[in-house]
Amino acid sequence: MKRIYKQLLSIFLAAIILTGGIAADSMMSIASSTRAGNVQEKNTEAAKMEVHFIDVGQGDSTLITCDGHSMLIDAGDYSKGTAIQNYLQKQKVKKLDYLILTHPDSDHIGGAPVMITKFEIDKVFVSNYEKDNKTYQKLIQALDNKGLKYTTPEVGAQYSLGTATVTILAPNDTYDNPNDASIALMIQNGDNRFLFTGDAEEAAEQDMLENGMDFAADVYKAGHHGSRSSTSQKFFEAVSPSYAVISCGEDNSYGHPHAETLNTFRMNGVKVYRTDEDGTIIATSDGKTITFNVPASETWKAGEPNGNSSVWETPKSEAQESKKQETGEADPTEITYVLNVKTKKFHKPTCNSLPTTNRKDSTESRESIIAQGYEPCKRCNP
Ligand SMILES: [Zn+2]
Ligand SMILES: [Zn+2]
Repeated sequence: MKRIYKQLLSIFLAAIILTGGIAADSMMSIASSTRAGNVQEKNTEAAKMEVHFIDVGQGDSTLITCDGHSMLIDAGDYSKGTAIQNYLQKQKVKKLDYLILTHPDSDHIGGAPVMITKFEIDKVFVSNYEKDNKTYQKLIQALDNKGLKYTTPEVGAQYSLGTATVTILAPNDTYDNPNDASIALMIQNGDNRFLFTGDAEEAAEQDMLENGMDFAADVYKAGHHGSRSSTSQKFFEAVSPSYAVISCGEDNSYGHPHAETLNTFRMNGVKVYRTDEDGTIIATSDGKTITFNVPASETWKAGEPNGNSSVWETPKSEAQESKKQETGEADPTEITYVLNVKTKKFHKPTCNSLPTTNRKDSTESRESIIAQGYEPCKRCNP
């Protein structure tokens, strides 16, 4: 639909150039009536859908309601559980048709046990990445206590949420990096499409593109809180959103959103909404148009890691040098392989699926790493 609309618009623009120009106003009204005409033919009965990007500080939690049905994607960290519960109750949510926990990082699942305890839930979807920590154990315990089954949804599977259709797009593989194992999904109501990719980073984005599904969306919840490790150029082009929503905490220590991501949005005329600036953001879809409860952000302000050096201003070599001093990491020029001390896999430093947790940079030889029980990554074949 979006592509057809763009094609029509470009044919129309060409016609204007040929005929010597028409007022911009009438051009817009003709273009939008063309769009509305198509929508009416195809989707007459889309109900109102609301997408609440709940302000949970640094983390994610999105409530989607449509025609009396509801879905919660992620539940912020441990300290946000009760606040999300209250928010859901204020929205008169009594039952969740779906609870989707994109991946097991604490800023996504920490608050989930509260929801599991307090609400009736039909279906629970989790990532195929399991963690061996307290937060994850508490989640599984809460699910078991409630007698709830949980599964990883199949890519391509579709579910209905009122008049909306939810299509699963990821995970397409198993990964060393929990972010890449995120469940990704498209929610379509009438002609309005919303894309959620959790914290999926570039490797997972590539795998998504390879599955050949349609990623074009009107609203894109920026992957990984607007980090530069997500929203790779090719993926962005496939999504080609009109709106991006960034869920991140004010002055978060990761420096989210990163300047690179904001720049991609800005250069392409994407309207940006941010929970760190506006609090909870609500997008409403009637199947044809999408409206937001707040105006788009105009700040284009990137986060500042650790509250000091700006991503823009620090030259890369300097940034690496100071990071090295702070953390005592190995000299980047001497690193031979990157190890995952938990999964016991090792990677080339250039692998696009490097671990972000349990990571150890090694300067040893391949043989001695294998002798320590590590297996080569199947992706980069070190
Ligand atoms: Zn996250
Ligand atoms: Zn994560």
